[in-house]
Amino acid sequence: MPDLSNRVALVTGGSRGIGAAVALHLASCGAAVAVNYAGSQSAADAVVESIREAGGRAVALQADVSDPAACGALVQSVVSELGGLDILVNNAGITRDGLVVRMSDDDWAAVIDTNLTGVFSLTRAAGKIMMKQRSGAIVNVTSVVGLVGNAGQANYAAAKAGVIGLTKSVARELASRGVRANAVAPGFIETDMTAALSEAVRESTRAQIAMGRFGSPQDVAATVAFLASDEAAYITGQVLAVDGGMTFV
Ligand code: NAP
Repeated sequence: MPDLSNRVALVTGGSRGIGAAVALHLASCGAAVAVNYAGSQSAADAVVESIREAGGRAVALQADVSDPAACGALVQSVVSELGGLDILVNNAGITRDGLVVRMSDDDWAAVIDTNLTGVFSLTRAAGKIMMKQRSGAIVNVTSVVGLVGNAGQANYAAAKAGVIGLTKSVARELASRGVRANAVAPGFIETDMTAALSEAVRESTRAQIAMGRFGSPQDVAATVAFLASDEAAYITGQVLAVDGGMTFV
């Protein structure tokens, strides 16, 4: 397990699913963790409670990442509550699936605002702090859908592909200041987001996975912790698929 003691991490969408697993894992590696959520206060509080019970430091912070002003305020709250910011995990994300010819402007905008603009707003706010302290690690949660596309998810795929371009640009801009930026691209992970899919979709997806099983939030959390840690000190601008062999070429 990587050593993240004396590091402060912000995990967006840390109340449920992959984000909750990331928050718990970073804390078990020694980091103090700000658990961001949009609406699920009790779920975020439960994650914080479980970190504290294990002897760690954590705080739950509400903010809608699709609101740029809220992102700036969130980063300031992390610094004032936990004393700094060393690791930013941009995990919060939503889906509003539909075929492109039928997609509403609202469904397009909601996914772009949350999944892409949110990552930009938080990177801008956190990047200033990390540049000044000449250290930091940003890990963005994209998706294999951002690499290969998916029928019915044009908004989501565009946002996730955008996150990959954003990650690589930030990696180039901030490398000389000691700040790394990488992305993880999960495949099919068992969370609330995928629980809504039909059995037919689940089975046809499973058939595309070389390892023949869906992933767990913990599979993603371990990869995020690695990329956030000094064990990945010479890795920046990369996209690491955590997909059981779904998309490799
Ligand atoms: P999930 O179970 O639906 O959880 C989503 C999380 O994001 C929740 O904590 C939610 O907070 C938060 N969130 C949503 N909108 C937000 C907003 N505007 N501001 C702040 N937080 C917000 O999703 P998941 O499956 O864990 O997915 C996590 C990330 O992994 C997403 O970026 C997703 O696109 C990506 N991903 C997932 C899969 C998969 O198979 N599950 C695959 C590839 C990529 P509340 O609880 O407060 O609503």
